[in-house]
Amino acid sequence: MYDAIRSLFGSCSLLPEDMDRISFPISKSGFGIGLAQHTAQPAYVGSVFHSAQLQSKLLSSVTSEEALVNHYAPLLSNVNASLPVDKQISTPVLLASSEPQHLLSSAMVASRVSAFVASCGTPRELRVVEAGLKCSNGNWLEAPYGFDSMDSLSWRCAARFRLGKPIFSQSVPCPSCRREPLDIYGIHATYCNGDGDCIHRHNAVRDLLIQMCRSAKLPVSDHEPGFLLSDTVSGDKPADVFIRNWKLGRGLCLDVCIANSLENCNENPSDVLGPLKRKVALKNEKYETRCTERGFMFKPFVCGSLGGFSDDAVKVMKDIGKSSSAVLGVTKGVAVDHIRKRVAFAIQKAQATAWIRRGHMADVLLP
Ligand SMILES: [Zn+2]
Repeated sequence: MYDAIRSLFGSCSLLPEDMDRISFPISKSGFGIGLAQHTAQPAYVGSVFHSAQLQSKLLSSVTSEEALVNHYAPLLSNVNASLPVDKQISTPVLLASSEPQHLLSSAMVASRVSAFVASCGTPRELRVVEAGLKCSNGNWLEAPYGFDSMDSLSWRCAARFRLGKPIFSQSVPCPSCRREPLDIYGIHATYCNGDGDCIHRHNAVRDLLIQMCRSAKLPVSDHEPGFLLSDTVSGDKPADVFIRNWKLGRGLCLDVCIANSLENCNENPSDVLGPLKRKVALKNEKYETRCTERGFMFKPFVCGSLGGFSDDAVKVMKDIGKSSSAVLGVTKGVAVDHIRKRVAFAIQKAQATAWIRRGHMADVLLP
């Protein structure tokens, strides 16, 4: 198993704690690659307690449920011994649970995640883990099959970025912008303006939103000139996505933006949504008043380079999902879930282009 995981991640060195993290569920910042050594014990203990009543009925002539539970109590004690006091599970709670295996395994995962977070040595590492816990940044790993794909090298780069592992063998001057160092973790490459990679990523998200609006039969336009920008730097520009008759007869102007999730991580490592909130405030300040004056609604569609969406982006995806669920014949939850995962996938795929291009130009891309 370890060899298979190492080959998936290529030549970057994975430490024992990295291997442990990979086994966390995707929602807990891992890759959901369960290891038997972590799942066997809660599965077994949960199942014996779950079936205690049935066993006592089958064996009623020789034992009682209480005697069986007492017999199995040391097994539960063993599990609890590996958990912090506040996460330990008592016998009555386990017996009352309809999903005792899930209860035990969740407590064990939560305890391992807490220990991992506490062990993060740098603000950057902590920010990366927080992105996994607070931003569902593994969404792209679960993108629905059959819509889009990325090659194995792109996957490896995106997977390393999610883990906070090096993508490049050494830090060199960025070969694209020639202004900043290309850090080994690929952070600069996610906001570097050289070679148009940020525009490519922005356009990938914009085009995907337009495509999904069209699938949902929403009245969408990709160019509605003159609505948004009025600042002296950029001049006038069209909305990235314009949906006519969005709410109360008013059209909606969307401005797509990808924030650097690792911005300011030295100042406040756990504030992983801070960069997204700052972009939202900036966009609203620039464009909202002008849009409102013209009778349109404005929403910034802000995503994080390490995952996560602004509140407005989440609302927009929910509304698109609501429309597409009716058209596609799936539940609203499934439709919204697909949209979130496909947007997250488009971002990572585009970032992979930026990492690979710079890595090849400077000859520092880890294989
Ligand atoms: Zn650069």
